[in-house]
Amino acid sequence: MADCIFCKIVNGEIPAVKVYEDERVLAFMDINPLNDGHTLVIPKKHAETIFEIDPEDLAAAIKVAQKVANAIKKALNPDGLTIIQLNKKAAGQVVPHLHIHLVPRWENDGLKVSRWEPVPGDMEKIKEIGEKIKAAV
Ligand SMILES: [Zn+2]
Repeated sequence: MADCIFCKIVNGEIPAVKVYEDERVLAFMDINPLNDGHTLVIPKKHAETIFEIDPEDLAAAIKVAQKVANAIKKALNPDGLTIIQLNKKAAGQVVPHLHIHLVPRWENDGLKVSRWEPVPGDMEKIKEIGEKIKAAV
């Protein structure tokens, strides 16, 4: 897509610190890192969200996410790794080109990302919603 910042990175129109590239996938450093080593993995072919992406491109991207996660582990020795993939503005997606965030984590790094206290839900409601999703798969 012409005005997509990640497509421009793929096409070399905008510079990026690339850490891995193959025919379908590109991984590069996030310039607004949540932590040291914050890396993004994207399919080269434009797709906005998980709802539209070609399953083959998605599979390729998640395989590269694992490869880069292992490289982050080797290079930075984090205590953990948070993987985030946001779809649509309501979920916090900023760039409308599917991307997988790899965020190295260290004990007590203070990041508020994806840490929550589990609170038991209403089982009736959970079952009802589960049935709706199951019927739509
Ligand atoms: Zn794009």
